Amino acid sequence: MLADQAAVRFARAAAQEEAGAERVGAHVGVLAEDEVSATHLFEAEHAGYRGWNWAVTIAHAGPGTPLSISEVVLLPGQDALVAPQWVPWNERVRAGDLGVGDLLPPKEDDPRLVPGYVASDDPAVEEVALEVGLGRVRVLSREGVLDAAQRWQGGDFGPRSDMARSAPAHCGTCGFYTRLAGSLGAAFGVCANELTPADGHVVHVEYGCGAHSEVEVEGGPMVPVADVVYDDAELEVEPTGAEPGPAADAGAPVDETAR
Ligand code: SF4
Repeated sequence: MLADQAAVRFARAAAQEEAGAERVGAHVGVLAEDEVSATHLFEAEHAGYRGWNWAVTIAHAGPGTPLSISEVVLLPGQDALVAPQWVPWNERVRAGDLGVGDLLPPKEDDPRLVPGYVASDDPAVEEVALEVGLGRVRVLSREGVLDAAQRWQGGDFGPRSDMARSAPAHCGTCGFYTRLAGSLGAAFGVCANELTPADGHVVHVEYGCGAHSEVEVEGGPMVPVADVVYDDAELEVEPTGAEPGPAADAGAPVDETAR
């Protein structure tokens, strides 16, 4: 009753009434809503609504009662051109978007931050509070630490970068490596070598580059040279003790004392 040809014609008439002068397209399908209602879909041929469907929900209260229209709406189909999902402005900001003079406050419930302020009457505690990470309203949460570590590890100065894989040694053994304070110091530091692209950046302890402080370049020729070299313009022939042949006798010096 809800899906037969009579129901399709009934639903199409309702869609056509809503569409006005626009033609209602082919019947696309029917979706059962519950035991007494179903939604018929028809292609919409409105300009600018490619892939949209007229959705007509009809209901049947039982034997002896007529079909009735519950709702007629336009709904996007699978191929419909629809606007992207709205994203709040503070979730659209990406790294590098912040310009000079811009203000970007963290979200109130930013999971990367936790309360960190500890007020003390003890001057000795106040003196070292900033140094040990206290004295600030908020500090990095565990999630914030892990988030940063994961980002840095997979970044340009992480152990899997091309530079690190061809480096002669790791930052962890380099004199230019300055270890971070706190738990991040277990795996990260700052490079202080102005001759590298990593200068002033956080580098992973297993990152590395060719400017490592212990790199040595062996001196020597720039092209490979064979171990033994023969100069055939300066050949020196030494006798071996064998009997000289006639040709050699003809040119040999004469020993006068032997006569
Ligand atoms: S100079 Fe190279 S190896 Fe040394 S800390 Fe900087 S990036 Fe690492």
